[in-house]
Amino acid sequence: MKGKLLAVSGPSGVGKGTIVKTLVKRRADIAESVSCTTRAPREGEKHGREYYFLTKEEFLRRIAENDFLEYDEHFGNYYGTPKSFVRETLKEKSVILEIDVVGALNAKKAFPDCVLVMIAPPSVAELKRRLIGRGSETDAEIENRLSRLEYELSQKDNYDFVIVNDDLETAIQELEKIIDEK
Ligand code: ADP
Ligand code: 5GP
Repeated sequence: MKGKLLAVSGPSGVGKGTIVKTLVKRRADIAESVSCTTRAPREGEKHGREYYFLTKEEFLRRIAENDFLEYDEHFGNYYGTPKSFVRETLKEKSVILEIDVVGALNAKKAFPDCVLVMIAPPSVAELKRRLIGRGSETDAEIENRLSRLEYELSQKDNYDFVIVNDDLETAIQELEKIIDEK
């Protein structure tokens, strides 16, 4: 195995996607695992890039075939990490899983070397601003995502590293340092 496996978690809207995508663009030796989900694509999202968008039937079939490293249900939809992609990619590169706290702890059970990184917001008010500013969820969906905030942040102690995403570039470099550490 050449690369490191990392799970990056944090509340919805904290900036996980922005941090991970920027780092993956900069570094050919870091890849992001593309998860499967049954939720509908957001505007601009492409099948095979942000997620593999599956029907519920397809997702359930792949669970039965033991095709996921871990999977979970959020906001009424299934999300899961395809096992084969992670195994193959780790032979060449580090792999980042962008998953919630339950998924991250399950990934660590399956891969004990998995490094767990929590992205935290500078404040709850700033998190709300980002979530509303992204403009991709309804008010009810935003409330639902914020209601999980306390629980997610309470899991910090189970994590190897916590990065506060205040200045974006600083947060990206902190994640890069964790990957490059021996
Ligand atoms: P997540 O993937 O954690 O749900 P996103 O990456 O979609 O979050 O970020 C949510 C919003 O916050 C986006 O509009 C993004 O541009 C913005 N954002 C991310 N990081 C920062 C930052 N450090 N400062 C200000 N805005 C940010
Ligand atoms: P979103 O709908 O905003 O893209 O993601 C909703 C939630 O699903 C986020 O908390 C995200 O981290 C989580 N998620 C995305 N992919 C996976 C996955 O493969 N497994 C698990 N367990 N959670 C995931």
